[in-house]
Amino acid sequence: MAKRLVILGGGESGVGTAILGKKKQYEVFVSDFNKIKETYKQVLIHHEIEWEEGGHDEERILSADVVMKSPGIPDTAPIVKKLIDGKVAVVSEIEFASRFTDANLIGITGSNGKTTTATLTYQLLKDGGLNVALGGNIGKSFAELVAVETYEHFVLELSSFQLDGIVDFAPHIAVLTNLSPDHLDRYDNDFQKYIASKFRITKNQTAADYFIYDADDAEIVKWLKDHPITAQQLPFSVTKELKQGAYIKEKELILTVNNTKITMPIATLGLQGQHNQKNAMAASTIATLLKIRKATIRESLSSFQGVEHRLEKVLKINNVMYINDSKATNVNATFYALDSMEAPTVWIVGGVDKGNDYTELLPLVNEKVKAIICLGVDNEKITQAFGNVVDLMIETQSMEHAIQVAYRIAERGDNVLLSPACASFDLFENYEDRGRQFKEAIRKL
Ligand code: ADP
Repeated sequence: MAKRLVILGGGESGVGTAILGKKKQYEVFVSDFNKIKETYKQVLIHHEIEWEEGGHDEERILSADVVMKSPGIPDTAPIVKKLIDGKVAVVSEIEFASRFTDANLIGITGSNGKTTTATLTYQLLKDGGLNVALGGNIGKSFAELVAVETYEHFVLELSSFQLDGIVDFAPHIAVLTNLSPDHLDRYDNDFQKYIASKFRITKNQTAADYFIYDADDAEIVKWLKDHPITAQQLPFSVTKELKQGAYIKEKELILTVNNTKITMPIATLGLQGQHNQKNAMAASTIATLLKIRKATIRESLSSFQGVEHRLEKVLKINNVMYINDSKATNVNATFYALDSMEAPTVWIVGGVDKGNDYTELLPLVNEKVKAIICLGVDNEKITQAFGNVVDLMIETQSMEHAIQVAYRIAERGDNVLLSPACASFDLFENYEDRGRQFKEAIRKL
């Protein structure tokens, strides 16, 4: 008899898992407590997969052989509790999908920089001629990629929620970009639990595998000291020289992996900013492990133009550069955005604050920011944090207004930077909507 696979959540990872499950002869049922998007419904219908929405058929769900829980569903959801009590196996999409491929898996996790590092890695490997796919938290789900085609390498962007649901998933190469408090509501407001979740990426690695990480990140280094791992470690740093791994010295990126050494002036990197030097070090370490030629790595690193909404240069008007960093939804990401500004900056900030502490931004704001434009329903915390640091502070509640104000204030040679350090849900649908509105408003100037 066919094994029964139940999928909780009919989004990207749910539908991808459904397609893979069906292909592997499971009896598949998708159940979503909310509405399933029309496009996903059409895919399920096309593949003749059964589904329900707006509620859960508990009896059917509890009788599953295996359940894939989408990353957005917390363990505290009543149906998940019942599954756990009933000892039904609950896994994440990457766990399920990894059981059906022998490909080389590269997993990239961290609080910030996942998408940039994953996309850059994908570009390096593709330019190096490898048969590689990019997926996970970005673009297509891993499960769908496994279902539809055979790849030799997967570059997977992984959230902590995806890692929470793994059992045997073992990436040959794992990257931890950095750690800063995020999504703590799902981890009992305990940063240590969130860190433990990120480190699950190493849990099934062997001594033949690699772990690449930011050696400047005090939390990562501390955790590694207290919790030794099996994989070979390849750190990167912008502050200290490393015998193995990558570092920056005298404006050069220097990479040593086993006996291979690559050097490259940081000025030739396509993406600027210290955080992107870190992302470039992580990606080129992976490419070197996979034996991509040095010349290809150099070319690829210098031609990479970045990902939309991440320090994306939009337009120069009257010699003022407008930069879209809408994806900066926490203080750490905005820290690096401000750090990379090389001209006086009009900074657009605000939105839904997830308990931000703005203290670490103060020196940078003092040095680089000439005016702050608050863009949010409630701007109180920002006004309080920066009121004494910046001469000019203006509150706005729409993107169009914010841009009009920025246009008036900015002078030749300045930057206008949208790097909100906050989520977008008060005024926008999501960070993409916020970034798009930013770009539209600029184009209308
Ligand atoms: P993620 O997928 O982890 O959210 P992104 O690559 O989408 O990461 O970048 C999110 C935000 O963080 C952007 O504002 C980006 O400029 C910034 N960022 C990118 N890389 C790093 C890094 N290594 N450290 C800190 N911030 C980063």
